[in-house]
Amino acid sequence: MVVVSLGFSDARYPRLAGELFEDEQHLRWAAEDWGHLVHDRPRAVLRPGSVSDIRAMARFAAERGIPFVPRAQGHSSGGQAQAKNGIVVDMRGLNGIDAVQSEHVVVGAGARWSEVLRATLSHGLTPPVLTDYLELSVGGTLSVGGIGGTSHRSGLQTDNVAELEIVTEEDELRTCSRTRDSDLFDAVLGGRGRHGTIIRATLRLIPAKTCTRRYKLYYRELSPLLADQCLLVEDGRFDHIEGHARFADSGEWIYAMVLATHFDPGEEPDDAALLGRLGHESAEIDDMGCFDFLNQMEDDEAYLRSTGAWEQPHPWLDLMLPGSAAEDFIVETMRKLVLDDIGESGLVLFYPFHTRVITTPRVRVPAEPRAFLFSLLRTAPHDEVVVSRLVESNRELRQRALSLGGTVYLEHAESP
Ligand SMILES: Cc1cc2nc3c(=O)[nH]c(=O)nc-3n(C[C@H](O)[C@H](O)[C@H](O)COP(=O)(O)OP(=O)(O)OC[C@H]3O[C@@H](n4cnc5c(N)ncnc54)[C@H](O)[C@@H]3O)c2cc1C
Repeated sequence: MVVVSLGFSDARYPRLAGELFEDEQHLRWAAEDWGHLVHDRPRAVLRPGSVSDIRAMARFAAERGIPFVPRAQGHSSGGQAQAKNGIVVDMRGLNGIDAVQSEHVVVGAGARWSEVLRATLSHGLTPPVLTDYLELSVGGTLSVGGIGGTSHRSGLQTDNVAELEIVTEEDELRTCSRTRDSDLFDAVLGGRGRHGTIIRATLRLIPAKTCTRRYKLYYRELSPLLADQCLLVEDGRFDHIEGHARFADSGEWIYAMVLATHFDPGEEPDDAALLGRLGHESAEIDDMGCFDFLNQMEDDEAYLRSTGAWEQPHPWLDLMLPGSAAEDFIVETMRKLVLDDIGESGLVLFYPFHTRVITTPRVRVPAEPRAFLFSLLRTAPHDEVVVSRLVESNRELRQRALSLGGTVYLEHAESP
């Protein structure tokens, strides 16, 4: 039944400035995510009216030994933001963005990266690393890592945080950084919301350009693409390096490397120099505003929502593969994949990075100088048999990757 207990009249819960919900609609919301695979219902959902609410409920949960889990955009795919019989904290309202400074900005953990980027670009600045999809929250990606097309240069989003304000599991409000209370800092970054709730984050900023030239290079075979990616990561000629494969209508794989160079008007990129010594078959080159490039998933989202694929189950697998084993693993995995394994709107994502640039202790990377992100971004039908088959296939691939020295990037609920 009910909810909308505002705390004051409810003897069971602490007094709150915000709202506490126990109704079906909110509990169901908190038991859903992007994956649609895990459905752990909490006992209540807190929409905090202040940081004091978060502290009071953290204490309430700790005293009773019940799970207390922050949640923002719910784009996890394995129940990471769910709290079985516990309290879920809806962090979306804590989304303030302070005045942008020359080298950093302080933001509320519930702010989305699109909001942060809009604010910083208007000052000619940008976070060094952005995820492909910008509607994820700052707290959500700092709880996993946050990898993107500039990670070969700048590491993860967690590697670019100067300071955090945290409500600890014991309900204390603490400020931490690499040099102050560093154990807490290291526990929370990549900590999947289980070691404290991020309230505010101080994010490092770097100068931004206004325009972007995007290069989509198409390859007939996967191996030359992977080799070119490695060459580019070494010589650093592009700002942004990613790669993906998707099924064409013909049933064949289309392999593409997506590269970008940012520039200001009057500084034309030198295409011949940038594309020299690369083995692609064809190229599409276009210019756009920097924000439009970084926000490139906006159109995909609109399309996937229109087809219904946005709401389908997403049994995703996100691995980091050691450089020495990556090519064989990726080529072999893709050789066996058929359309039903990934879905018409599914995508295989892969790109290399130097492991030395990832310094967040909680994010485990392969013990080699170079590693690859490898993600199977599957879309499945609403069919339990099919979903179970894909989850089992993920489990096997995960085990194989681990045996080769790989690591799991976005740990899902069923991860070992
Ligand atoms: C379409 C799409 C594209 C994506 N692209 C990328 C990508 O390019 N790179 C990448 O790295 N990832 C990517 N991801 C994965 C994404 O970064 C993670 O799933 C991220 O955790 C989701 O953020 P969220 O705001 O939805 O968080 P939620 O799903 O709400 O929460 C995720 C985790 O963060 C914790 N959390 C949330 N807020 C806080 C807080 N304030 N304090 C402490 N813990 C908190 C939760 O407890 C949970 O463990 C993508 C996901 C989707 C669906």
